[in-house]
Amino acid sequence: MHALKLRSVFFNKLVRFSTCNELQSRCFYRFDSKQGPASVAEFIYNKILTTGPISVSEFMKIALTFPKVGYYMNRDVFGNQGDFVTSPELSQMFGELIAAWFVSEWSNLGAPGSIQLVELGPGRGTLACDILRTFKQLRQVLQDTKMSFHFVEMSPFLSKVQYELLCCKPLEKKIVFCTDNYFLSGRTPENIDLFWHNALDTVPRGTFTLFIAHEFFDALPVHKFVKKDGIWKEMYIDICSDGTKKNLRFVLLPNPTLACKTLIAKDEARQQVEVSPQSSLIVQEMTSRISESNGAALIGDYGHFGTKEDTLRGFKKHQLADVLSDLGECDITADVDFKYLRNAALPCNVDVSGPISQNKFLKHLGIDTRLMMLLRSSSDPEVRRKLIGGYNIMINPAQMGERFQFLSITSRSRLKDKNNKSVPITGFE
Ligand code: SAH
Repeated sequence: MHALKLRSVFFNKLVRFSTCNELQSRCFYRFDSKQGPASVAEFIYNKILTTGPISVSEFMKIALTFPKVGYYMNRDVFGNQGDFVTSPELSQMFGELIAAWFVSEWSNLGAPGSIQLVELGPGRGTLACDILRTFKQLRQVLQDTKMSFHFVEMSPFLSKVQYELLCCKPLEKKIVFCTDNYFLSGRTPENIDLFWHNALDTVPRGTFTLFIAHEFFDALPVHKFVKKDGIWKEMYIDICSDGTKKNLRFVLLPNPTLACKTLIAKDEARQQVEVSPQSSLIVQEMTSRISESNGAALIGDYGHFGTKEDTLRGFKKHQLADVLSDLGECDITADVDFKYLRNAALPCNVDVSGPISQNKFLKHLGIDTRLMMLLRSSSDPEVRRKLIGGYNIMINPAQMGERFQFLSITSRSRLKDKNNKSVPITGFE
């Protein structure tokens, strides 16, 4: 049977069983497979031709993290030569202030004798490096607190970059993913143990943990829904052909999918929504660990509080790009819905604060004073230019200052003030 015909035969089934289809494909992606498609485009076109249109969520997951060929899996995407720049890459001050937040919250949470740090989506490892450098400078406060650092990372390429930066030596062995334990371990020159995991599940439980997820949730897949004549429908991705050339296009499925029925809030007032159930599951996992074993999480991302409708976009070489072209070669991102994340955390016994804008958060943490100190200590015009430039991009409301936001999740066992009220969460006042 011709592939296109085959596809239309399966079309109705696909609609009804879309979630099942996603579950199957999740099991289907094997990291150790020797063979695989030559490109994201090849895989997506073949998949649509054989089994029909795919959800935006599945499309995003394949484009970003498909083994070997996905966008994040085989390249350095950051910096001037890459596609986008993040705050840790812009300025050392960012990691220093996040480290100060951790130390302050660790102290507010009773200063336990050991800290397990967890970073989701560590990029080049720059943030972790700045955090550990600052912890070293704060040894007088931290004293002999034991420390380990766990990273949740899907990209073998970036895991290697992170290892080499943090361990200060080349990684000699080949990375082989392992789904029931960490897949890589190392040690910093200061003897802090480092572990790399595919997912949060394999990070040890039952211990005081501080989480950081910076520009992580915006890379997680979203389902896209549109309300048409009062009925929620799901946006899928299909192939269109003009006879000579095939392209991808967005299509609205005629019948509501299971995802329409299960993922959209009953009181949703918008006409279009993007929902990331994977983000909700990860927040629930972090939150249950925090409520069980004490700890805190800081989530920073481009985002909104359940107000925006259509934020899915592509980035290539620092410019907006069409998400349906350049498959696997351009970043695909959607703004984080902080209201949705907050709702995922609230049922657990935790305090949730924010979101607060990056401008306010970094100012509360003392970025102005830190900038002055660093400027005073250097007369090198290049260093001063970089410090001021990085500060401006992070703080200016027209750049990252307003659109970039922070949410914190903290355990309830916080220090109490003299009125027996928990002390405020650092930086969120
Ligand atoms: N936090 C870094 C990098 C942000 S880019 C910074 O601020 O500079 C997103 C990071 O998340 C990359 O390291 C990417 O490889 C990783 N990533 C993307 N999707 C992921 C997933 N599903 N699971 C684990 N890591 C993921």
